[in-house]
Amino acid sequence: MVEVAIVECDGYEGIKKRAEEAIKLAGGLKASEKVLIKPNAGSPSSPSKAANTNPYLVAAIVEIIRDHAESVVVGERDGIACSASKCLKKSGIEDAVLRSGAEIRLLDDDPQIDVKIDGKRLKSVKLPKTVVECDTFINIPKLKTNSFSLLTLGIKNLMGLIGREDRARFHRTDLPQLLVDLSRVVRPDLTIIDGVHAMEGQGPVYGNVIDLGLLIAGKDVVATDAVASYVTGVSPEEVDTTRIAAWEGIGTCNMDDIKIIGSEIEAVKKSIKRPLSTLSGMYPNVDVYMGGACKGCYDPLMIIFEGLKLRGELDEMGDIKVIIGKDAPLPDSFGDKTLVIGDCAKEHMDKGLFIKGCPPILDLFKIRLS
Ligand code: SF4
Repeated sequence: MVEVAIVECDGYEGIKKRAEEAIKLAGGLKASEKVLIKPNAGSPSSPSKAANTNPYLVAAIVEIIRDHAESVVVGERDGIACSASKCLKKSGIEDAVLRSGAEIRLLDDDPQIDVKIDGKRLKSVKLPKTVVECDTFINIPKLKTNSFSLLTLGIKNLMGLIGREDRARFHRTDLPQLLVDLSRVVRPDLTIIDGVHAMEGQGPVYGNVIDLGLLIAGKDVVATDAVASYVTGVSPEEVDTTRIAAWEGIGTCNMDDIKIIGSEIEAVKKSIKRPLSTLSGMYPNVDVYMGGACKGCYDPLMIIFEGLKLRGELDEMGDIKVIIGKDAPLPDSFGDKTLVIGDCAKEHMDKGLFIKGCPPILDLFKIRLS
C-alpha cells in the first residue's frame, strides 16, 4: 500500500503546523545536504487568485526543512508568458522565502546539464544544475484546473524545471507523455499539493478560486496526484499524466492501492467545476473557423481570450475571426481583426494577423490585440 496524507486547513494562517503534520503523516523527510523546493510560480498574479502555490505555504515548508538541511533553495524557471523573476515577485513567494531564510534561485541562470532519459518520447532534456545536484526535491504544486491537462498537479508542476523553448515544444498533444518521461529522471522525494485555496473552471490562470481547505502529501507523486483528483470529483485516470505514469509503473493511481492517512477522504470530497477545452462557441464575438486543429493552438489562444474577457476588454473589441488548423473552412469576408493561428493554417497567412509556430505558444503570448 502506498500512503498519502490529507490534512484539512481553514486557510493559510497557521499553515506551518498543518504542513508539519502533512509531512509527518506522509512519512517525513530525511536530513539532507541540498534541498530544492519547487513551487508552482508560473503566473504573475497575487496569492488571492490561487494561480500559484501560496507564499505562506512555501515559507512554512522552508522553515520546517531548514533545520534538517545544509541548504534550502526555492527554484523556478521562466514560464511561457512570464519570467520566473516577475512571477516569484508578484506571487509573493520571493518575499516570503527570503524572510524564511532560504535562497531564491532563478533556474534559467544555472548551468544546464544534458540528462539522458529512457522515456517513450523524451530521450534527453537540459536540466538546471540545481535540479540535478539536489539530494532532496520537494514538489509543491497548486491544485488547479487546466484547460489543457484538466488538472495541474504534481507531475504537471515538473514542467517548471525545463527551459522555455522546450516547454513550448511540450505544449502539443503529447505533453502528458513528455511530462511522464521527465518524471523518470526528476522524481520528487515529497509532493505537497496546495489545495487550501484551489482553482476551478477555466484554469490554469483565470479560473475561480474555491476554498477546498486541503493539503495532500505523499512520496509517490502519482498516488498523490490521484488522491488530489479523487477529492475534486475527477477520476484519477482522467488526468493523462496520472494514468500514463501509472501504466508505466512510476507510481500507482489505483485508489484501492492507496492508504489515506489523516482526514477521511469521502468527508473532504468536493466536486469542482471543470474547464471547458474548446475555442468554438466560447465567446459570442469570436467566430472560429477550425480545421483539424489541436490543443497546442487553441488552448493558449483561449487563455488569452479568457484574460481579455475577465478584464472586460474582449466585448469592446468587436468581431474577431480566428482561422486555425489544417483545411479550416473560411469566412465569406475577413474583417480587420482576423487571426490566423499556427503553422497548420499558414496557407491563409495573408488573411489576417498570422501567428507562426507549431505550437505557436511563444509568439501567441507576445501579441497584443487592439
Ligand atoms: S500548428 Fe497544427 S499541429 Fe501545430 S499546434 Fe497548431 S493545430 Fe496543432
